[in-house]
Amino acid sequence: MGFPVMRIDGKKVLDNARRVAELCAGRDIEVWGVTKGLSGDPRLAEIYGRAGFAGISDSRLANLRKIRDSGSELPRQLIRIAMISELPDIPGTADVSLESELSTIRELDAICLHTGARHDVLLAVDVGDLREGFWPSELTRVGGELSRLKHVSITGIATNFACASGVLPSSEKFEDLLIYRDMLQDTLGRELPYISVGGTCCLGLIEEGRVPKGINQLRIGEGVLLGRDTAYQRDIPYLDRTAVVISAEIIECRRKPSAPDGETGCQAFGEKPVFIDRGMRQRALLGIGRQDVDTGRLIPLQDGVHIITASSDHMVTDVTDADSIRAPEAKLRPGNSLDFRPLYPAMLSAATSGYVAVEFE
Ligand SMILES: *Cc1c(COP(=O)(O)O)cnc(C)c1O
Repeated sequence: MGFPVMRIDGKKVLDNARRVAELCAGRDIEVWGVTKGLSGDPRLAEIYGRAGFAGISDSRLANLRKIRDSGSELPRQLIRIAMISELPDIPGTADVSLESELSTIRELDAICLHTGARHDVLLAVDVGDLREGFWPSELTRVGGELSRLKHVSITGIATNFACASGVLPSSEKFEDLLIYRDMLQDTLGRELPYISVGGTCCLGLIEEGRVPKGINQLRIGEGVLLGRDTAYQRDIPYLDRTAVVISAEIIECRRKPSAPDGETGCQAFGEKPVFIDRGMRQRALLGIGRQDVDTGRLIPLQDGVHIITASSDHMVTDVTDADSIRAPEAKLRPGNSLDFRPLYPAMLSAATSGYVAVEFE
């Protein structure tokens, strides 16, 4: 088996997914599993299905296509606002998409007219995070325009928290969504079944029962995969945090000084690292680097391992403390591997790197 490798413990992911599904079911919220963190891996979609999730969400059409072609029967949702250039492929690949441009939705309607396809749209509404979405004051006018569509059906509204600006969800923001949904219903003259919210940062309010009735869809990825909620910088206590592990192989192990020798400029990535002189230290050099993973977002799983720095193909770790707690014969040496817990950017970069094997077990 090769290194570096990202191992996904399917049983742990399934347990996490079931916990989330159960929690949300108790509040009448259906869960859509976001697969983009693992590049739309169909094995992840299959786990989400087994956990009872209502559908699969991904930001990339290519990922949804992979999942469709794997034979998955779960409904698929495109969660990045569509590019006009990809519209012809959308109705056959996604059942529903989040949209925030009238011209794009009209074009999608025209495509459905020509191909006889049907497609659902959730209108993205921006409640302050300032990434995608109609501004609430536009909704009445937009609703008027949308009432003329014939082939695309508007099934609700969707919003994001903590994606671009770190704006957190709140009961007040959720109440606002109910108002926006009602405004749209009034102009469209029919019921809108869904209010969809994302992502993991919404879970805390769901736990606390602070989500008003009517918010009925959660799109979640990070929490289920990593047991982590980045927006609140918290580990989710009832979810496993070791379902995804990245392992790298040691290629050199040696005692070296902890402070560099010579006048220092910038390193390979134009940064000027700061070193603390801690004397001679045992260092393990790993065959993993920034081409493989966002090394700044890795957490060593073995006690006493510290990441010092990384360049394109190497990562330097200090293992002095790890070695001191091991039996002499168990000392770290070339051929051994070290395990790391990836935070979201590390998982994403490993999944898309092309140099990191992804194994489900
Ligand atoms: C990534 C994403 C999510 C999932 O967010 P997590 O924090 O990974 O749970 C939900 N909705 C949209 C639109 C996204 O882009």
